[in-house]
Formats: sequence, C-alpha cells, structure tokens
Amino acid sequence: MAADVSDDSSGVTGATPSPHRQGRILVVEDDPGTLDFLALALERSGFEVATATSAGEGLELLATHRFDVLLADIGLPGMSGFDLVREAKRLDPDLAIALMTADARVDVAVQALRSDVDDFLPKPISPVALIEQVDRLIERRHAKKSGPPQQVLAIGAHPDDVEIGVGGILLGHREAHDQITILTLSHGARGGDAAIRAEEASKAAALLGAELILGNLDDTRIAIGDPTVGMIEDAIAATAPAIVYTHTLCDLHQDHRNVHRASMVAARNVPSVYCYESPSATVKFEPVRFVSIDGAMEGKLEAIRSYQSQTAVRSYLDEELVRATARYWGRFGQTRYCEPLEVVRDRPPARSFGPGE
Ligand SMILES: [Zn+2]
Repeated sequence: MAADVSDDSSGVTGATPSPHRQGRILVVEDDPGTLDFLALALERSGFEVATATSAGEGLELLATHRFDVLLADIGLPGMSGFDLVREAKRLDPDLAIALMTADARVDVAVQALRSDVDDFLPKPISPVALIEQVDRLIERRHAKKSGPPQQVLAIGAHPDDVEIGVGGILLGHREAHDQITILTLSHGARGGDAAIRAEEASKAAALLGAELILGNLDDTRIAIGDPTVGMIEDAIAATAPAIVYTHTLCDLHQDHRNVHRASMVAARNVPSVYCYESPSATVKFEPVRFVSIDGAMEGKLEAIRSYQSQTAVRSYLDEELVRATARYWGRFGQTRYCEPLEVVRDRPPARSFGPGE
C-alpha cells in the first residue's frame, strides 16, 4: 500500500494504534481515495490488508487467500457488492462481511440481506469507528469458527521438510486453533545423527504447535508403496485430517517423490490435499495457491533454526535463502512473503470432517 502516512487530510491520525491486532482484511472499493484511506487506517491498527478495486479482483483474492473480514462497497462497477457477498459466502461461509455505502437508503436492501451480511458501514466513516467495527467483525468471525477445530496433517520424508515447505502455513493453522500433526517418515540419519535429528524435529514441531509422529523408514530408501503408504494411512486414521500437506512430485529427491505418491494413495479420501515446495523441487513445480505468511515468517525461521546440527552444513537451510524464496513467491500473492502450494484437491472446509462426527 503506497499511501502517504503523513497525510493529515486522511484523518487517519485519529485511529488508535495497536500493534497487537490480528486479522486479515480484504477491502473492495472502486474509489482509489477511499480505498487508500481504509487500507491505511486498518494497517496502522495492525491488521493485514489486501485491496481490490472490483468484485472480480476481490473474488480472485478470496479464492486464493484466507481472510477474516471482507469490507466491500455496494456500488461497485460490473458485479455489485451484493453479488460479491453471495459469491464470497460460497467460497468461505464463515467470512465476516460488511458492506459500505454513502447512500442511507441502501440500508433497506442491506436489511434484506441481513442473513448474509454481518454489518453495514456508513460512508464516510471515522478511523476510530472503522477499527471498532472491524474488531467486532473479527470477534464474530472467531465465534463462527468456534466449531470443532480442523485437523491438519503435514507429511514430510525427512526432519525439516515440513518446516521448510509449510512452516508458515502451519503457524496460520495454529493461530486458527486447528490441530496440527506432522508426520515425518524418517529420522534423516543420512544427514546426521538420528537421535539428534529426532530431538530437533520434536523441538521444531513444538514451535509450530504440532504433534510429531516420527517414523523410522530408511532415509534415501523410502519406498513408494508399503510400508510408506501404511504409515501414512495410520496417521490419517488417527487424526482424520480435513487437510493434508505433502511433497510435490516435481522434486529431484527420490524420497520426496515417493512420499508424494504414497500420500496420493493414502490420502485418497481426505477432502483437501496440497503439495509444497522443497529446496530440491524442480522448475516444473507449478503452484496455484499462494498463502501469505507475512505474520509467520519469523516463526518459520525459528522453527527451522531448531535443526542446529544441520544449519551449518546444509546450504538450503540458510535463512537468507528461506526468506528470499518466500519473498519471491510473495509476488504472486500480493503480499510480502508466501508459501506456494499445488492443489491436488480443494474442498471447502467442511466442519463435518472434524473428529468425532
Ligand atoms: Zn527431505
């Protein structure tokens, strides 16, 4: 957001700055002045903000990113705010939504849509009132999400694969109170002392708020079929995940490719399956989803630092490389840092897949 922070005419200086606010807000507004004003006020209060100037652009962002709140103008060109709301609800039924308009009469129409819209924001709105409303919307979002937490399973061939591939994404799941399990299929003995690497893997998992299942398959000789498939099936039976993250097939390391193939078999009934990038991924790796990890970059690096016995000898664990890779993918996610994912299957989060249901 290239808005001028020192611009007094914005009235943004009246907002109460709070670096502790958390939440991802999408603002869809066709008037550039209003858009800048809203984005700046929200950013200065600590929210992560993405912007779009049309409903189509907004829906593209909603399809590829997780947001807590959608603020949309009613009078958008082309597809209206009302249509946007309907589509947005389809993509994420739990999304908190507020429509904005300068026309008080539209309130009547908003009333009619009350079931789909959580709030109604008059324009112009003061920064203080805006932040208060957004705080309320975030609370509502959390209340909606307070059903059973989602089970998430991240699978890696060796210690550190999962942290490098989806460390930031897993921290996002932790923030959403999801239950995370990391299945690491080998101790990675070829890359150092197995006992030390196991200890490091436990430490990294704890930093990500994840349970660790550490398998004992032969490093560099992980099979494409059993026992690999069986080990993954056991983890899936134990955790009933709604989401599985695993290696991409486009990888130079045979263990990574075999874990990918074994995962495809074992996770055949899991609603959502995504593939992450490893440092040994080839240029054929073709992600279509780019998840912002702006708020999780430092946490991801901290988890990777757990692999102390490796960071000295493994160039791919170089923090500069990890950060630069996320920064590169950030280009595609309209954000600073992203983790990229290939999508094998992508079903909307269905609460009925939670445990015990
Ligand atoms: Zn690996």
